[in-house]
Amino acid sequence: MDVRLSDWVAAREKCGLFGVYAPERTVAKLTFYGLFALQHRGQESAGIAVATSDTVTAIRRMGLVTQGFNEEDIQVLKGKAAIGHTRYSTTGSSVLKNAQPFVFDSDPKRPFAIAHNGNLVNTPELSDELKAAGVELKSTSDTWVFGKLLELELRHHDMVTALQRLLPRVKGAYCFVILTTEAVYAVRDPYGIRPLSLGVLESSSLDGAERYVCASESCAFGLVGATFLREVPPGHIVRLSEEGTEDFRIPAEGESKFCMFELFYFLRPDSEVMGQTAYSVRVRMGRQLARESPADADLVIPIPDSGTPAAIGFAQESGLPLEHGLIKNRYVYRTFIEPEQELREKGVRLKFSPMPEVIGGKRIVVIDDSIVRGSTSNQLVRMLRDAGAREVHLRISSPPIRHPCFYGFDFGTYEELIAAGADLAEIEREVGADSLRYLSLEGIVKATGHAREEFCLACFTGNYPIPIPGQLSLSKFMLERTADNGQGAPVATGEEEAG
Ligand code: SF4
Repeated sequence: MDVRLSDWVAAREKCGLFGVYAPERTVAKLTFYGLFALQHRGQESAGIAVATSDTVTAIRRMGLVTQGFNEEDIQVLKGKAAIGHTRYSTTGSSVLKNAQPFVFDSDPKRPFAIAHNGNLVNTPELSDELKAAGVELKSTSDTWVFGKLLELELRHHDMVTALQRLLPRVKGAYCFVILTTEAVYAVRDPYGIRPLSLGVLESSSLDGAERYVCASESCAFGLVGATFLREVPPGHIVRLSEEGTEDFRIPAEGESKFCMFELFYFLRPDSEVMGQTAYSVRVRMGRQLARESPADADLVIPIPDSGTPAAIGFAQESGLPLEHGLIKNRYVYRTFIEPEQELREKGVRLKFSPMPEVIGGKRIVVIDDSIVRGSTSNQLVRMLRDAGAREVHLRISSPPIRHPCFYGFDFGTYEELIAAGADLAEIEREVGADSLRYLSLEGIVKATGHAREEFCLACFTGNYPIPIPGQLSLSKFMLERTADNGQGAPVATGEEEAG
């Protein structure tokens, strides 16, 4: 099988990971609940792998964790350690064969399972390595390619050494959880773009040995009876085993560049990163937004749920009352992660209902965390006007998203971004608001309490911390960039795919 650039780019995904080493516990059940708490990170498929002292097995199912797994599965999945994965993907790859964890057992003495969150940007080169080693390419998934390369390294090395040899050749944003018959490994790339945390199980065993868990977000710990310990440091491999936890370095260059999008949108508000909860940062973003772009209005209305903390901050700072003018149907998936545009658009009306008694005749300032494609904002503004709002002022608690994400978020082309190549007045017209203002780049960084250098801000600035292969940005994404070295607005060439 030849891997085309377009194949593996289409498989970019953003997911939730969980891992646990606890021989005395029902590890599959802990993993089930860990994934349940991480459901917001992916709703298309879920999987759990368990390890005994000589086997690694997995069950993978489409849909929500609670749809895919039942008590019988948990009974079948017996072991001393487990990992789990929730997934969402782009169009075309919502199929069971792409559900993780993947199990690699061609060497029956050293089976392992892998679950991945992120996107590897040099998969074609890694695939070439496999081909050169005589391995038939049976999948275009970056996780599969990584797993096969790991298998090759494991022929001659232990897991930590194998990872230390392989990871410097792997480029991109990644967190892996890897399960073997002896341990769970939590791996975070040198830039630390995606989150990964460690927790300790309370009263973990009868003999008092401490047992550990890892998860994409610390919000998974409370439900499984664990407490947050620390983040996996960027560029580290942490081994969870009978010996407790051990840290190893990935011998590769990189400096911490945490994804700003995680912070203002994707993390569950109660998850802790960089020493604070996402909730507290979002409230400060809302305060900063109110200082930068006040609105002459009667009420502050959040777009629930992701806009709510920023709306609280905006209301606190502006002194305007906060009211719930939009009610969310909690049983509809996030529109942002539906695979197709058509479904996204239908999703907005399925998801929100306006409250005429709250907003009727009022000038409202509506707070949302971001505008990606713009279709949601446009429909919401219309819905609020139809419900009687006199004026709708839109305030966004992040800067305009002008560039695609190549590191695992689901906006991989300039064409789908409303702010790519558009000025504020054009976007304002397109979403139909009386006024539209974004939080500034300086403002969002200030609200985090951290330095700008600690973040990936590429979707705002076009400065990608991990170099993107030229062929990828120019061929796959059909773009000619303006002559200012990637900082300016892109121009589509109209060519469909150059693979
Ligand atoms: S480009 Fe944007 S969404 Fe992608 S990793 Fe960077 S900050 Fe996050």
